[in-house]
Amino acid sequence: MNLAQFQRRGYVKDATPIEFLPNFSKALDNKVNIYIKRDDLLPGTAGGNKTRKLDFCIADAVAKGSDTIITCGAVQSNHCRLTLSWAVKEGLDCYLVLEERVKNSYTPQASGNNFLFQLLGVKGITVVSGGSNMMEEMEKIAEKLKAEGRKPYIIPGGASNALGALGYVSCMEEIMNQMFTQGLNFDHIVVPSGSAGTHAGIIAGMIGNNINIPVTGIGVNRPKAVQQEAVHKLANQTLDLIGVEQKVPAEKVIAFDDYVGPGYSLPTDAMVEAVKLLARSEGILLDPVYSGKAMSGLIDLVKKDYFKKGSNVLFLHTGGSPALYAYLDTFRK
Ligand SMILES: *Cc1c(COP(=O)(O)O)cnc(C)c1O
Repeated sequence: MNLAQFQRRGYVKDATPIEFLPNFSKALDNKVNIYIKRDDLLPGTAGGNKTRKLDFCIADAVAKGSDTIITCGAVQSNHCRLTLSWAVKEGLDCYLVLEERVKNSYTPQASGNNFLFQLLGVKGITVVSGGSNMMEEMEKIAEKLKAEGRKPYIIPGGASNALGALGYVSCMEEIMNQMFTQGLNFDHIVVPSGSAGTHAGIIAGMIGNNINIPVTGIGVNRPKAVQQEAVHKLANQTLDLIGVEQKVPAEKVIAFDDYVGPGYSLPTDAMVEAVKLLARSEGILLDPVYSGKAMSGLIDLVKKDYFKKGSNVLFLHTGGSPALYAYLDTFRK
């Protein structure tokens, strides 16, 4: 696959580390060897997976002569924080539309990512109620800005369109390269699955490169069937964009919904345990909304012998630790 045909801004210069987690693996009785891909260490304010996608999406915005970025997310959105961060770096204005997926969850004084929206100098925040049509809300703002003579560019939630998903096609190729040069051989990859671009990009990278490592997605929001369909559709659109004729077999897309708990962004006991276990065994911070729940899934799957004994399992750490500071009471309990 030729990803060089697409413009990038060069936000991702070096491969993120892949680390073995000996203490964490031991805490799970050494049933499997758990490794972690440190995308939490990507560049951009406080790191995280959106940087890979924005590398492509903001390149498109810049190529089109845009001077303002509009994007959307939940009230503690890591995607909004990173989009704002890269907009700042590029000298672009940035407006955010925040969806109150949990009623009355937006507080202007909140810590975590919300604090960083202010610190990084967001130009405007519009809060809308859960279930709103986010694209329409962003278009309203774009129309207003156009009337003022601005050139806005809309990036969809999570930068999860085919262009953004290229970032994770590239990550899959990066992982293959690291496996080869570092003598690693993964039997299984576990990824968080939210707005779907990460999971879809990894799957597209697998299919497009004829790699046959099973990928298990851990959903954080939608029911299994709905999430799998979203990932499947986006993975095919991504292959299409690259110019690959192959299609993704539906059975390659697995996104469990057993670890969502009461709903998106709402804590579960297993998430709290997973965050504490990784922090206290390896000194690595997960987040309460995505990677913490995904890791709670991995832990449960290890306990249930979902992975073959002695196999090498790679967990994709997508970042998000600033959100921890909006959940102090959850972790102090
Ligand atoms: C956005 C996000 C995800 C999910 O990635 P998607 O591409 O939206 O599925 C996972 N972890 C963190 C920390 C995120 O911010």
